[in-house]
Amino acid sequence: MPEDPDVTARRLRREPPPFRPAAVARTEAVTPRLVRVVLDGDGLEGLVPPEPAASVRLLLPRPGERELTLPRWDGNEFLLPDGSRPPIRTLTPLRPAPGEGALAVEVVLHGRGALSTWATAARPGDPVAVSGPGRGYAVDPDATDHLLAGDETALPAIRQLLDHLPPDRPARVLVEVADPAARLPLGDRDGLEVVWLDLPPGAPPGGALVGAVAAAPIGPGTRVWVAGEAAAVQRIRRALFEERGVPRSRATVRGYWKHGRAGT
Ligand SMILES: Cc1cc2nc3c(=O)[nH]c(=O)nc-3n(C[C@H](O)[C@H](O)[C@H](O)COP(=O)(O)OP(=O)(O)OC[C@H]3O[C@@H](n4cnc5c(N)ncnc54)[C@H](O)[C@@H]3O)c2cc1C
Repeated sequence: MPEDPDVTARRLRREPPPFRPAAVARTEAVTPRLVRVVLDGDGLEGLVPPEPAASVRLLLPRPGERELTLPRWDGNEFLLPDGSRPPIRTLTPLRPAPGEGALAVEVVLHGRGALSTWATAARPGDPVAVSGPGRGYAVDPDATDHLLAGDETALPAIRQLLDHLPPDRPARVLVEVADPAARLPLGDRDGLEVVWLDLPPGAPPGGALVGAVAAAPIGPGTRVWVAGEAAAVQRIRRALFEERGVPRSRATVRGYWKHGRAGT
């Protein structure tokens, strides 16, 4: 029997890890499209998990405010004391250089949104809070080679994944960029092939990535990791699983953001 929608709406969700207060330690432009923000705070100790491509949720001050108000969990979502939703966004947790801070994140400056706007103006001492981490990607030690693909939001995870792959396994990387200025060096490990795909002006996200992933060589030992815009990765799932018959156990395909909709 279909479930009563009111019951579904009222169903309680498992409370995420609490927010740990932190502050911006420093920022650094990785490219004109990507800013690295190093965070520090006693509560952040040990937050970066051993597996790459994990997740953390960043709580930001409300637009126009400098102070951070911690929200409470109402059984379904985080809410501020006045009942409004605070700006919370998901990012890839990165380990900063020793002595630099406790956690780093790299934020795509796409020009809109609470996170992109905050990262553009972030200064040392600015307050934030961090919840997490969420699970990362378990690298298969038996994989013969890897296909890593994504858009600009996947670049921090892709760089981290490349650091975790066995050095003797070839890796092909496909990255779609909405602006050529987003390209950055991905290292020179043996067997690394990087293809930068420019999103044609006016094309929806995935306009270059979907076809490239669909056409990429994928052998029986290849492991595939993909992340990007939700509708684009949905098309990639269809291409991989339905059209090419890639077993689902050999591919991880994650939606990182939704075109036309603010994230949480
Ligand atoms: C597990 C996971 C890891 C992630 N890791 C990272 C990371 O390391 N770095 C990172 O930058 N992002 C990462 N993301 C994606 C990030 O959470 C979203 O892009 C987020 O919505 C950006 O928030 P915002 O406040 O800037 O924009 P929002 O307020 O969420 O959105 C405002 C508008 O901008 C659009 N928009 C959102 N993101 C983009 C984008 N990247 N390009 C173009 N338009 C966009 C939306 O569709 C909307 O129309 C990750 C997401 C997940 C789930």
